[in-house]
Amino acid sequence: MDADVIVIGAGIVGAACARELARAGRRVLVLDAGPSAYRGATHAGMGHLVLMDDNPAELALCRDSLQQWRALAPEMPEDCAYTPCGTLWIAANEAEMAEAGRKQAGLREHGFDSALLNAAELRDTEPALRADLAGALKVPSDAIVYAPNAARWMLQQPGIRLETAQVRAIEEHGVVLHGGSQRRAPAVVLAAGLQATDFCPELPIRAKKGHLAITDRYPGTVRHQLVELGYISSAHHAQEASVAFNAQPRPTGQLLLGSSRQFDTTDPAVEWPMLQRMLRRSLSYLPGLADLNVIRCWTGFRAATPDSLPIIGPHPTHPGLWLAVGHEGLGVTTAPGTARLLAAQITGAAPPFDARPYLAQRFEELP
Ligand SMILES: Cc1cc2nc3c(=O)[nH]c(=O)nc-3n(C[C@H](O)[C@H](O)[C@H](O)COP(=O)(O)OP(=O)(O)OC[C@H]3O[C@@H](n4cnc5c(N)ncnc54)[C@H](O)[C@@H]3O)c2cc1C
Repeated sequence: MDADVIVIGAGIVGAACARELARAGRRVLVLDAGPSAYRGATHAGMGHLVLMDDNPAELALCRDSLQQWRALAPEMPEDCAYTPCGTLWIAANEAEMAEAGRKQAGLREHGFDSALLNAAELRDTEPALRADLAGALKVPSDAIVYAPNAARWMLQQPGIRLETAQVRAIEEHGVVLHGGSQRRAPAVVLAAGLQATDFCPELPIRAKKGHLAITDRYPGTVRHQLVELGYISSAHHAQEASVAFNAQPRPTGQLLLGSSRQFDTTDPAVEWPMLQRMLRRSLSYLPGLADLNVIRCWTGFRAATPDSLPIIGPHPTHPGLWLAVGHEGLGVTTAPGTARLLAAQITGAAPPFDARPYLAQRFEELP
């Protein structure tokens, strides 16, 4: 055997799983095809560590994950750029302010602190926002991280070996690489993001394309991650192409701007009409953007499941194959909780929270 566990994929989910398994005493071999073969979501995404509460399972996974991110923060090198900036959920009008109040009540019920800001308080907190907004819900425990570096750091855990290799097939107790050689282990974790369906076409995972843009350095323009409240319906429920205002202050002083969502395309090209829609939305919240330079735009693909929850646990019909896939637009946030849950299942330890909502068996189309 080459290892106790083989992990396919060195994105943030594979890296977190490898780290957790190595900490549990397992010898872990991580196989990743490298950037020349695939451009994973971890390298394309925004790195907002955000408490989402659409349903109890999402909240449980976010809660566990965010606690872990906070615990990891003092150990992480500076280039992971972990910054506890908090989130402001922006309410454009009184109806959205009522929504902010409902969100606050839900969070309070589960023991999370948040604060409602009225229009004047919002103007004082983030003066770059347009003046006629109704207010915001501030969630101070949210943060941001630079996910590619966090993944690289997680893989430095003793007990992990990383090999650049493209996996061609998964077999019982191992994998076959392009070129024909094999790597053997009693357990294989599939953490290949969108490419998971190359191995398991039965998994109900669809690509959701997103655009991002980053400005030059303008330190102090905004201080919190700013997200319009309408993002929640755009992010998780819309089936049509949609955009929502989402702005992140990078520690470099740059502003990272999102977000867009499109189904049924895997073309990585930046689409100008979509980008224009997204930037117009940003401009409507941050009028001063008109004077800033955007220096780079790119796209990435989220691996979306029908219920927006990831698939974590054993493959229903392949013994020894474990799934950590389908993390959509929340995989950076939820990687540590995913890893704890999956490692507990593989090692036979008590799960940190109920594993059932994330099992593949919840989808009727699976065997
Ligand atoms: C535009 C955008 C914005 C986002 N913003 C956020 C955000 O603010 N907050 C948040 O929490 N999440 C965000 N996300 C989601 C997050 O980025 C993903 O959920 C997360 O990165 C998924 O990580 P992963 O490890 O599962 O997959 P990936 O990062 O895609 O990694 C999969 C890895 O598998 C490897 N691989 C694939 N096939 C093979 C093979 N055959 N052999 C070997 N290796 C293989 C690839 O090389 C890749 O490195 C965003 C995503 C996008 C696209």
